[in-house]
Amino acid sequence: VAKPLLDVTGSDLMVPLLDGSQSRYVNLDYAASAPALGVVADRVTEALGLYASVHRGAGYASDISTTAYENARDTVARFVGAPAGYPVIFTRNTTDSLNLLASAVPGDTLVLDIEHHANFLPWSPRGRRVLTALDTLDETLEALENELRRQPAALVAVTGASNVTGEVLPLRRIADVVHKFGTRLAVDGAQLVPHRRVNMREQGIDYLAFSGHKTYAPFGAGVLVGRRDWLDKAEPYLRGGGAVTTVDTEQQGWRTGPHRHEGGSPNVLGVIGLARAVEALAELDPSEWYQHEAELREACISGLGQIPQARVLQIFSDSEAPVGVVSFSLDGVDSRHLAVVLAAEYGIGVRDGKFCAHPLLARLQQTSPALRVSFGVGSTKRDVTALLTALTDYLAHGPRGLYERVDDNWVV
Ligand code: PMP
Repeated sequence: VAKPLLDVTGSDLMVPLLDGSQSRYVNLDYAASAPALGVVADRVTEALGLYASVHRGAGYASDISTTAYENARDTVARFVGAPAGYPVIFTRNTTDSLNLLASAVPGDTLVLDIEHHANFLPWSPRGRRVLTALDTLDETLEALENELRRQPAALVAVTGASNVTGEVLPLRRIADVVHKFGTRLAVDGAQLVPHRRVNMREQGIDYLAFSGHKTYAPFGAGVLVGRRDWLDKAEPYLRGGGAVTTVDTEQQGWRTGPHRHEGGSPNVLGVIGLARAVEALAELDPSEWYQHEAELREACISGLGQIPQARVLQIFSDSEAPVGVVSFSLDGVDSRHLAVVLAAEYGIGVRDGKFCAHPLLARLQQTSPALRVSFGVGSTKRDVTALLTALTDYLAHGPRGLYERVDDNWVV
């Protein structure tokens, strides 16, 4: 872990510190948005050189863009092991993908209380049921089975990996439980896809959503891939050009497949970047990839273990091999304040707050905001060491600058 696994943008960035000096930027916030891979930056730059609207023009540039955009669907489908015929719909992000799916579900959706708001709020208008996760994954699966037996649901929507603790859910086991009742499984892959090989066919995933900007590509492109029937019957998600077969002044015919939900000019450059990113991830040796992150995570957790005030958040006592996401709080330390100090005095970028997972933080009795550090293919041991050194230094000296306490009652 002395070297990054892949080259990412911004890795040599120097940032100004409060005392006027400069420091290497330590990016420990991959879970919010990961830096672009170098190869993604190159590919997007190349695509910027010549592009035009897709599906609309007959010109050379339009042809190039259309081919790249449509090829990206195949690249993504292969990358996630989508069964044949599952449409790959390009959206803005995971939130968009899950809202689209929510508009297509013909019944109740059951979720756990550990979800990111993006996999919690979209289901509510259509009949959301919330199941309380228990202390172990084994017990939680049993509770899920009992709940589905008591009252069936159309869909179970779970996160693949927690954006707060990095814990990975046993998707194949969940799929087996869910499918027993004729229910379908949707996976919020926002934090899983950037860290683990996902195979929809092997893992029994009916719908998968993820974001380009967390998967080493730029902002603005996301994916929903899944079974076709509900999506083809659903109201078009974005009504507009490209989504229709015929239109007259009285009525219109809607297309099926991905185009039904992609009205308007799509984010071609974002999709091209996303496709290039997943191609690069597909080339990684999985054991090397997972090992890299596991070592960083281990170094981080054991370093935090040396700090008596630190409390690391965890949901399940039996979870295995979490991804590179660690959240913690320090007793007696205001997390917002600490996050500002880490940025201003040490050049370290982390996430603070309640991580858009308020029900989960309540369940973990984390009543005040916490801090989250997260890493990926561009991270090294040096990043983790910089954090641990900064925390020790901060706890010994307190802040060096002059700060007002940041008293936000708007916590995200
Ligand atoms: N689900 C999880 C688990 C996430 O971590 C996030 C982003 N923090 C989202 C969904 C939402 O992703 P986006 O903001 O890209 O829509």
